[in-house]
Amino acid sequence: MADQSGRKHVAICGGGLVGALNACFMAKRGYFVEVFEMRPDIRSQEIVRGRSINLALSIRGREALSRVGMEDVIIQKGIPMYARMIHDISGTRRPIPYGRDKQNIMSVDRRLLNEVLLDAAEEYPNVKTYFNHKVQSCDFETGEIVFLKDDKETVTRKVDLIVGNDGAFSAIRRQMMKTVRFDYQQTYIPHGYMELNIPPTQNDEFAMEINYLHIWPRNEFMMIALPNLDKSFTTTLFMPFELYDSLKTEEQLMQFFHDKFPDSIPLLGEDHLKKTFFNSKALPMVSIKCHPYHVGSKAVIMGDAAHAMVPFYGQGMNCGFEDCIVLADMLDQYNDDFSKALPAYTEHRNPDAKAMCDLAMYNYIEMRASVNSPLFLLRKKLDNL
Ligand code: FAD
Repeated sequence: MADQSGRKHVAICGGGLVGALNACFMAKRGYFVEVFEMRPDIRSQEIVRGRSINLALSIRGREALSRVGMEDVIIQKGIPMYARMIHDISGTRRPIPYGRDKQNIMSVDRRLLNEVLLDAAEEYPNVKTYFNHKVQSCDFETGEIVFLKDDKETVTRKVDLIVGNDGAFSAIRRQMMKTVRFDYQQTYIPHGYMELNIPPTQNDEFAMEINYLHIWPRNEFMMIALPNLDKSFTTTLFMPFELYDSLKTEEQLMQFFHDKFPDSIPLLGEDHLKKTFFNSKALPMVSIKCHPYHVGSKAVIMGDAAHAMVPFYGQGMNCGFEDCIVLADMLDQYNDDFSKALPAYTEHRNPDAKAMCDLAMYNYIEMRASVNSPLFLLRKKLDNL
């Protein structure tokens, strides 16, 4: 609860991208903020397993970073992408700009972003971070929350606000579902994703044009590649799970790539392709819509916990970052009165976030198929006149 100095006490559950940024937002308000993350500290890990190595950061996310003075730091560590670069089956490449006047999205390293944001949060004297602390249970009447540590000990806190920044499979959201009238919809798409890598050339150069989001759209499936600062490209294959399962031998895999992505083979390298394909598992993608995003004056969910979306619009994290702005604005408007700010947050944010989930689903078709259509190209040309 509020400490002796009258500061509000907030437990941020999840120290991922949105949780770490949110800690900065809450600390700036003068709250006493404790961040509890289930996994070990990412900064002390040699290898971090998890989703996508790099991400597209857009204006929505940049605005949120700028509110806590972090935009420039992050931008210096990113690579601007001014256009999509479409790779035809014949190997011909053609750019489709994202907008006019060098408008761009930034390719940023997920791990670096998370690390920099955790560092930034810890610079506030009123923030404490704990790792290997997993939400076990919470009570939205009393504000009590229990965490299980990896040594099986439990840690309990009683706080003014419980914030669920604990991702698509949120424990806080699960508890909300048991507590209030809660609408929930979850959809898995038939496609899975697998990450490959295009290394730098032998002369230590980028193997393709740098400032582009490269796409190999093949209607039913596609591959994309985003540049990294180490001159490699993180390359992601999206296709139906049945198609992954049908490629059982190295010959079948190579035949498929020769037929569908021939220009990518020398870039990826045959050995890497075979090794990665047969040693990894394609991962599922889920879209989640729910309502409300809060319970009374004690709990709120944000980021993927509130609105996980398929990655084709490149807006999941960006939207989660924007959540931090929307909540901060509501807290400003209602003088930090949670009983008023939280319902206002649900009311404002819920329709927008649901629309983003729908747009992401729409872009699932645009990226792999519509970019091939003459009508789409004509529309883009007219847009850019
Ligand atoms: P997460 O990143 O999932 O973080 C949640 C954190 O909570 C984790 O650290 C987790 O360990 C912790 N946690 C979970 N459960 C508990 C618990 N019980 N107790 C304590 N801690 C817990 N978005 C973009 O904006 N641009 C992109 O280009 C983009 N590309 C993507 C590509 C792919 C292939 C995928 C899958 C997603 C992509 N996204 C992109 C979406 C983006 O990854 C997510 O929207 C973003 O990671 C959400 O951040 P978050 O902090 O809400 O959740």
